[in-house]
Amino acid sequence: MKKYIWIIILIALGFAFVCNTNSPSAASESMAVNDSTQNKKTDERENMVEIKKSEEEWKKILTPEQYRVLREKGTERPFTGKFYKNEETGIYVCAACGNELFSSETKYESGSGWPSYWQPVSENSVRYVTDTSHGMIRTEVVCARCGGHLGHVFDDGPAPTGKRYCINSISLDFKKKDSGK
Ligand SMILES: [Zn+2]
Repeated sequence: MKKYIWIIILIALGFAFVCNTNSPSAASESMAVNDSTQNKKTDERENMVEIKKSEEEWKKILTPEQYRVLREKGTERPFTGKFYKNEETGIYVCAACGNELFSSETKYESGSGWPSYWQPVSENSVRYVTDTSHGMIRTEVVCARCGGHLGHVFDDGPAPTGKRYCINSISLDFKKKDSGK
């Protein structure tokens, strides 16, 4: 009888040993997975908090013309937009949500009739959507925060990027930089 008890104790000890050696690594592995998902979530939060509103809410916030361009992917007539000829120093923000989009430092005269930039303020400020409307394949540029339609990006821009962000003035507001800075 004593023999059996010892065998059972030894088996139990062995089992406990195996569990102990396995569990820390398993635990740290799952911790690592949790850490990386948490980091990813934090990164996304830091990059951009998306704004989601119903179309009814947007209609209340935006003018009819802003709504037509920003929410229905319209285009303002060329050479008519308020920022086409704006040469002041500052930051262009989304007219719908205030997200910073383009710096005056990257604005240039493209001759297209729309404000044109060769780069957004950061890669996280805009998103890109393939647009196959009007029998063309174009890359639509939307505000990363509110999803509002801004314009399109083309590959015929100037150095250093070679990109032309062709943006509707009506999708933008302008924050003039304080003078003397
Ligand atoms: Zn926006």
